Amino acid sequence: MPPSIQLQQVHKSYAAGGRQVAALHPLDLEIQAGEVFGIIGHSGAGKSTLIRLINRLEEPSGGRLRVEGQDVTALDRDGLRALRRRIGMIFQHFNLLSSRTVAGNVAFPLELAGTPRAEVASRVAGLLERVGLAEHAGKYPAQLSGGQKQRVGIARALATEPKILLCDEATSALDPQTTASVLELLSRINRELGLTIVLITHEMDVIRRICDRVAVLDAGRLVEAGPVTEVFLHPQHPTTRRFVSEAEHVDEGGLHADVRAVEGRIVRLTFLGPDTYAPLLGRVARHAGVDYNILSGRIDRIRETPYGQLVVALVGGDADAAQRAFVEAGVTVEVLRP
Ligand code: ADP
Repeated sequence: MPPSIQLQQVHKSYAAGGRQVAALHPLDLEIQAGEVFGIIGHSGAGKSTLIRLINRLEEPSGGRLRVEGQDVTALDRDGLRALRRRIGMIFQHFNLLSSRTVAGNVAFPLELAGTPRAEVASRVAGLLERVGLAEHAGKYPAQLSGGQKQRVGIARALATEPKILLCDEATSALDPQTTASVLELLSRINRELGLTIVLITHEMDVIRRICDRVAVLDAGRLVEAGPVTEVFLHPQHPTTRRFVSEAEHVDEGGLHADVRAVEGRIVRLTFLGPDTYAPLLGRVARHAGVDYNILSGRIDRIRETPYGQLVVALVGGDADAAQRAFVEAGVTVEVLRP
């Protein structure tokens, strides 16, 4: 199966003040069919430019773009229209038509595509059912909460049965609880329909919750990409580290001042998969005769995969033996202070 989306040396510049400014430097990217692919970056990094290149809302300045194996770099108007039926999109501010009801908004792309009226009605009913809005079909956008508006956006994006869904900061205008429920819906749609999802965000937590792989954009360049478990737990680039560093007692390779006085060898232990819940710490402590001083920690999930990350000081005993025992048990050990 060809990649769902393939960019080869795609780049984009804008004319500004009489000169060309690069929003995206030439980049290569492959997004596989059926995956949830996240693109993270700070404001101005080039995320919207990148996502809008995929459905050709932006014209690439150069390079080659393929969608499901088809070269879509130079499509005519009809070709573009057909491409956009295969690629749905949802937006941060929903972009709903305020004069149309919920059902009317979802029906809109079908009407544009010339779908027969009876079919429109049954498709819209099915879509509203899928996003949990069947009871709100007759309401207007102004009568809905933010989360409900985004569900309308999702139903509308799915109306033409696309293979790809682009999400442009789709949860950035929502509170945390609503964000979680919209992400859960997107995850379910990905599972049930096998839809490829590409989302851009500035929040690592969105990536952690639903993405399989992630690419990090920094000032128009792709600086890091890989499975979320890799990139999230072992970030390499300084920009990625900043996104990940969150509330740990360790930031960007250093230790916070209040931890520096702690005695012992300070290590970061990363557990991944079901072993996260194994009673390993006690076993290693007894085996190596070390004591632990837990400095920070987090146990959570990356999509469905449990992980744990602990920063501990190994005090007394045989710290080398403890480290070896962790590695043998499949735990990643990074020494933060020998
Ligand atoms: P992000 O989505 O990560 O915030 P954008 O893709 O919107 O980043 O922007 C990347 C860069 O391109 C920014 O420096 C922005 O100012 C510039 N840019 C985006 N759109 C245009 C445009 N239409 N004209 C000129 N410059 C633009």
